[in-house]
Amino acid sequence: MLGEPFDRLLGPAGERPFDFEELRRQLEHAAVGYAEVTGRRRDGELVALELFAAHVDVPPGGYAVTVRDVTVRRQTEEAIRTLAYYDPLTALPNRLLFLDRLGDAIERARRQRQMLAVMLVDLDRFKLVNDSLGLPLGDAMLRAVGERLRQTLRKSDTVARLGGDEFMILLHGLASAEAAARVAQKLLEALRAPFRVNGHELTTTACIGIAMFPHDGADPETLVKNADTALSRAKELGRGQYRFYTTDMNAAAFERLMLESRLRRALEQRELVVYYQPQVDLATGEVVGVEALLRWFHPDHGMVPPAEFIPLAEETGLIVPIGRWVLETAAEQVRRWQRCLRPDLRLAVNLSARQFQERDLVATVAEITERVGFPRRLLELEITESAVMRDAEEAQRRFRELTELGFHLALDDFGTGYSSLGYLQRFPINTLKIDRSFIQDIVQDARSAALLRAIVSLARTLDLRVVAEGVETREQALLLRSYGCQEMQGFLFARPLPAAELGALLKSGRRLVID
Ligand code: C2E
Ligand code: CA
Ligand code: CA
Repeated sequence: MLGEPFDRLLGPAGERPFDFEELRRQLEHAAVGYAEVTGRRRDGELVALELFAAHVDVPPGGYAVTVRDVTVRRQTEEAIRTLAYYDPLTALPNRLLFLDRLGDAIERARRQRQMLAVMLVDLDRFKLVNDSLGLPLGDAMLRAVGERLRQTLRKSDTVARLGGDEFMILLHGLASAEAAARVAQKLLEALRAPFRVNGHELTTTACIGIAMFPHDGADPETLVKNADTALSRAKELGRGQYRFYTTDMNAAAFERLMLESRLRRALEQRELVVYYQPQVDLATGEVVGVEALLRWFHPDHGMVPPAEFIPLAEETGLIVPIGRWVLETAAEQVRRWQRCLRPDLRLAVNLSARQFQERDLVATVAEITERVGFPRRLLELEITESAVMRDAEEAQRRFRELTELGFHLALDDFGTGYSSLGYLQRFPINTLKIDRSFIQDIVQDARSAALLRAIVSLARTLDLRVVAEGVETREQALLLRSYGCQEMQGFLFARPLPAAELGALLKSGRRLVID
């Protein structure tokens, strides 16, 4: 670049020129100024440059700048970093990087009050593969195992290789220890499938030791140590086992997994039942609709409340077939009531976020109503705000598809979540269901009452129907009616009832009387 102006050397085209002032400032306090910049060679190639500046006597107050091309050094540094942090055989993070990420994850989990799981995976009798088939095949096998572990997990989870046939896994954002147990099971299952390695078909099993943050340790070293202890215990149990560090966690996870497998069978064994809670028009006192609410009658535990098993059903994905069954059962039942008692009786069914992620949700709903002969405009699908939040765009699309087909949508539990009024505008919602916690306070608390009143009037401006949930007293109902709230649902009129009892109630023509 001899003879070229200095500026041409520094900075790729279009970038702002190098700031010599910064070097000058440094020289006010130090003998040498230093800067790192990206430069451009004569051939246009970008290079990493180091600049050193120092005072010179001639001309007075002037300074000289030395420029050095450090591109190769930077590349070497990068390579060293890779060597230092990654396992060369599998290209997975090594122990050092794992501990580093674990440290960060612990900080984050602490702030967000979440759980983490550290899993140590060890292949059973891997030495045999090495000894009998040779190291190259053993290496290829380890690579395949690493790959399979990675594919079984989420992208955001970390899989590292510690060396030998030991792998380490970091799971974050866990809701429970059972979630970790479920992942461990999934991993063990995935590893059981045969591996095709260099033309050989190999099978293996593994054991897993699990330590949970914060329960089993609050720093990386302790967690890894305890996962190791758990691994030894798993090995004692035999091949293909997993174990938690804490004994009671094994029991708790076992308990939940039992519940999960019971829930799996509950549908087939007719332990699930749909109850119906009437929705009443506050002006006429008449029953205008019903909400389908799921009940599980467990043969040993009796009635398991939905709050206990619905989250489990969501976590495991069981909510999809169960939800489908609820919709089917309720649509058939309410259709019968429509035929012989109330032609305009509306049905509200709860959908969970997980169901909204199902690609064929819209087709399923349409197919069921079609088959049952259920009028679309009388089916209202209830979804909570938090469920909408999880995947706003995708949810929006489903919403639109459903409303275009003529189904109605209700925003459930309004007042508990973000209660962003923005949603009301963005989503094609027909109904707002105000949460019970909100209704509870309105008689005593003037602020709640004022807020409720504002929400009702806003909703009415937007042409939304407002249903108050969990209305238990006459005072609440009177107040709600005076605010212009159209409907209510709650123990004041009726609890959720089995189909036969609700049928009887409809037949009796009973109404809500509040004045
Ligand atoms: P949700 O959709 O908000 O349902 C209303 C809940 O309030 C029901 O609880 C109902 O029994 C209760 N409730 C109604 N009126 C009153 C009242 O006056 N006072 C009090 N204290 N409670 C009242 P439940 O049946 O235990 O259901 C709990 C939650 O489980 C539901 O909340 C819903 O989120 C979920 N759920 C129920 N069935 C299904 C279903 O089939 N699918 C899905 N995805 N979720 C369901
Ligand atoms: Ca609901
Ligand atoms: Ca609700």
